[in-house]
Amino acid sequence: MHELPVTQSICEIVLRHAAAHDAKRVLSVSLEVGALSDLQPEWLQRYFDHLSRGTVAEQARLSVDRVPAVFHCNGCGRPFEVNSLLHDGIACERCHSENVTLQSGREYTVKRIEVI
Ligand SMILES: [Zn+2]
Repeated sequence: MHELPVTQSICEIVLRHAAAHDAKRVLSVSLEVGALSDLQPEWLQRYFDHLSRGTVAEQARLSVDRVPAVFHCNGCGRPFEVNSLLHDGIACERCHSENVTLQSGREYTVKRIEVI
């Protein structure tokens, strides 16, 4: 379950942000997760609930937005977006080269933290 270490670092970011802003409570946390990440939002929330117990972030709601993965085509030099890896093999939309490099898609970002 690799959601645990990820949730731990999210929780640290949230608590640091809350402390810096003298927040009484954290209401919600918006995350962006790359399309190729297999992080499960249910598990993120479950671990977050556990890790944030007794802190100002207790009961904060996590919302997860998927963002497309970005590949760079080594054939024509053009970047392109992919929403999922459901099909086998990624090819450039323009030149159909399969010589492509993943630029982003597995990362996660804390976009917004709502506090009171
Ligand atoms: Zn191409």
